[in-house]
Amino acid sequence: MSTPRTRADWQAMADGLSLRTQAFIDGRYVDAADGRSFDCVSPIDGRVLGQVARCGHADIDRAVRAARRSFEGGAWSQERPAKRKKVLQKLVALIERHADELALLESLDMGKPIDDAVNVDLAATIRCFAWTAEALDKVYGEVAPTGNDELGLVTREPLGVVGAIVPWNFPLLMAAWKIAPALATGNSVVLKPSEKSPLSVLRLAELVAEAGIPDGVFNVVPGYGQEAGEPLALHMDVDGLVFTGSTAVGKRLLQCAGLSNMKRAYMECGGKSPNVVFADAPDLDKAAAAAASGIFYNQGEVCTAASRLLVERSIKDAFVARVIEAGRKMQPRHPLEPGAPMGAMVDEGQTRRVLDYIAKGQAEGARLALGGQRATTVEGGCYVEPTVFDEVRPEHTISREEIFGPVLSVIPFDDEAQALRIANDTEYGLAAGVWTSNLSRAHRVARGLRAGSVWVNYWDGGDMTAPFGGYKQSGNGRDKSLHAFDKYTEMKATWINLGD
Ligand code: NAD
Repeated sequence: MSTPRTRADWQAMADGLSLRTQAFIDGRYVDAADGRSFDCVSPIDGRVLGQVARCGHADIDRAVRAARRSFEGGAWSQERPAKRKKVLQKLVALIERHADELALLESLDMGKPIDDAVNVDLAATIRCFAWTAEALDKVYGEVAPTGNDELGLVTREPLGVVGAIVPWNFPLLMAAWKIAPALATGNSVVLKPSEKSPLSVLRLAELVAEAGIPDGVFNVVPGYGQEAGEPLALHMDVDGLVFTGSTAVGKRLLQCAGLSNMKRAYMECGGKSPNVVFADAPDLDKAAAAAASGIFYNQGEVCTAASRLLVERSIKDAFVARVIEAGRKMQPRHPLEPGAPMGAMVDEGQTRRVLDYIAKGQAEGARLALGGQRATTVEGGCYVEPTVFDEVRPEHTISREEIFGPVLSVIPFDDEAQALRIANDTEYGLAAGVWTSNLSRAHRVARGLRAGSVWVNYWDGGDMTAPFGGYKQSGNGRDKSLHAFDKYTEMKATWINLGD
């Protein structure tokens, strides 16, 4: 089928979809052991898309047992890297073939604009699997520099069973960042998607099987955090736990690892990223457009959202006017409409949460300069206007807490030292940006920012070739690049006596 071009094309495709709503365990789709399910609701218009298996303890146990059996069986874990690479490349081809369908599932399930789902989520998911597959048979072990009487080998081995828990804002991509390196290094995986967006990874499971990944190596257990996530995190036979989501849940999962079997635990969590604009920024129009898209892209539901805009006071008013002008053009529209700059918030709960923060911003004295209301784009849907608060103080709640919505806080500063102080005055450390024409200042500020990714004169750069992750309470460990392989492998030193 050719790529749909219009909203009507996408809608026709949506009407013809047959959804995968059961759990995927040991190579087949199954109901939850106790038969329970939950409504999967589209935030576009409040329509129930289907009833998804509501996994609990018994299902997690079953999936972990399947994963363990497959791991010990060795059909994947002991396969030659070159063969694993071939299978993952077949998976890439299958994802490419079904890219429109997977993108559509993302839009329907969590409300993001279809163009973004195609051009960002699917493109990046494909790149993630393709890059990882290509890399996996190019990773070597080490030989320790010993004397001639012994040989010290440093090798990496798969962890075993990996539990992965992922969020709803980029459902397939966040899963891909975990699944690709976990499978590449020979692990078996039990994946728990967010209860708000399970559809795309449930469909992916079928493609994984079709690519030739043996039964039990990849399992998907949809369900709620407490019911499905915690049993996975506490399971005594899970060797590694990888997570993307909020800091509060990440902290709980670190406890779970400690309370159970000290499984390796890596958390990618929230952010409150500062975007620092100096008066000598090379192109203020470009900087203003980036400041707007940095917070409004994906409805602001991005871990690296540019949610704090720090602007040098001498240009602040003129610069904010440009940001507002750019933001005004990003009003939410029906997500299946090509060219929609923003779509729907993920659900009613998230919509209310964002509106509560907006109310709090006003109550604490920040100046509402754009938006601030629920948008009525589609009846029954969850839409919030692009919102800008000016004259925000660093102590205001909206400049301290992660809102995860299209709400920008503008904070003025007077000099470089103050800018750095405000930028780093946060419990988070995921990303940061700096705009300046002064090379020395660019390096100085980039070095001073306590964040895992720093962008100079643009926002949101990144690729599979570089690691991604946070400082401070934005998490530990890194996704993407060869550094990601570290999380999915144990390091072994083997000593061989070469004497008699
Ligand atoms: P969340 O923490 O509420 O949920 C994430 C996942 O954890 C979901 O699958 C959920 O069901 C599960 N979960 C919830 N409670 C649990 C529990 N007690 N035990 C086990 N599992 C549990 O996060 P969210 O609302 O889905 O996603 C938004 C958050 O994700 C934001 O904070 C955002 O910054 C963060 N995020 C971070 C990155 C990153 O790479 N650092 C990327 C995307 C999103």
